[in-house]
Amino acid sequence: MTGTERHRTATVDVGGVQVGSCHPVVVQSMTNTDTADAAATIAQVRALAEAGSELVRVTVNNDAAARTVPDIVREVDVPVIGDFHYNGHLLLAKYPACARALAKYRINPGNVGAKHRDENFATIIKIAMDHGKPVRIGVNWGSLDQHLLTEMMDANAKLAEPRDARDVMLDAIVESAIRSAELAEATGLGHDRIILSAKVSGVQDLVEVYRRLAPRSDHPLHLGLTEAGMGMKGIVASTAGLSILLQEGIGDTIRVSLTPRPGGDRTEEVQVAQQILQSLGLRIFSPQVTACPGCGRTTSTFFQEMAEEIQGYLRAEMPRWREQYRGAEALRVAVMGCVVNGPGEAREADLGIAAGKGFGHLIVRGEVRGKVPEDRFVEVLVAEAEKMAREQEPEPASS
Ligand code: SF4
Repeated sequence: MTGTERHRTATVDVGGVQVGSCHPVVVQSMTNTDTADAAATIAQVRALAEAGSELVRVTVNNDAAARTVPDIVREVDVPVIGDFHYNGHLLLAKYPACARALAKYRINPGNVGAKHRDENFATIIKIAMDHGKPVRIGVNWGSLDQHLLTEMMDANAKLAEPRDARDVMLDAIVESAIRSAELAEATGLGHDRIILSAKVSGVQDLVEVYRRLAPRSDHPLHLGLTEAGMGMKGIVASTAGLSILLQEGIGDTIRVSLTPRPGGDRTEEVQVAQQILQSLGLRIFSPQVTACPGCGRTTSTFFQEMAEEIQGYLRAEMPRWREQYRGAEALRVAVMGCVVNGPGEAREADLGIAAGKGFGHLIVRGEVRGKVPEDRFVEVLVAEAEKMAREQEPEPASS
């Protein structure tokens, strides 16, 4: 664990998951199925939860989705959050079973209606109070409250030395979140029922907006780069933005918003979120494989395949190990391509192999345990990892 001091925030209970600075940073994700398609949404919520998502959000955009929510919640083991835009006040009032089933409501104060904005917002807050639910007030730069933005831009224009528009917009995002939280509390919602987020799509803007938001309140903060994008771009941009803030102690729950490739795996966003937290030393989810990058000494694909196979095995076994052995997720495995740096790295790990020509040294807790022929590397490492997991303290039986 790092010595990073968390920005102090209150604790909000989201369906039994505690979000706040006294608790580990929570990983969450969102489905991309049609919520009205119960079978597809249940399957995806389960897949996201099995991958490690501790909260899962679904969009609740119409009557059919609101009617389906209770069926989805009944079939899954993870708190389900409802994402509302434009008609949340109507849907939550019309479908009390939906309002009851959800663990939290996400409200975007920029699109709860222009004419009756505060009224519609208060309607959702009162429903949350009636059902004992928390809310996330999620401001998004793409749907920022235009009334507030205009008010702040006009005030800026009257200054002797006006600030640039970006600067004012970031302030408007923060102001929207703070004023909405104040309105929610003035309506009667408990202080410990509010989470805030302020999403933007640029890394520097994200860092800046949360640096301004964090000192303004002690509501837990949900971090995420909105519209992060596809593949490597989305992963790198999210990692860059979230890591800076997490390292500064800002952020109580994170979501990595990746656009999956057609037919791609939605759970990738959960793996990336976990990897960000584990790389920063904030949480431990699964054994880490340290593999050397390979070089001219590892010209065949054998070495890459071995590292990938071992990482895949550990990831696949982790759900079972987590239930049976306490601490198995902290195992460190090193897969090194040669004897130059290999033995040193492998000694630092719990378990490692330092490959040589046709054979490798197996190193267990810093001790060389002998030579292993190349074609048995994976088999031997996997057997040792399983043995080490079994040596961990057993998980106490749940009552
Ligand atoms: S450990 Fe050996 S094979 Fe791997 S990158 Fe370093 S020198 Fe190359």
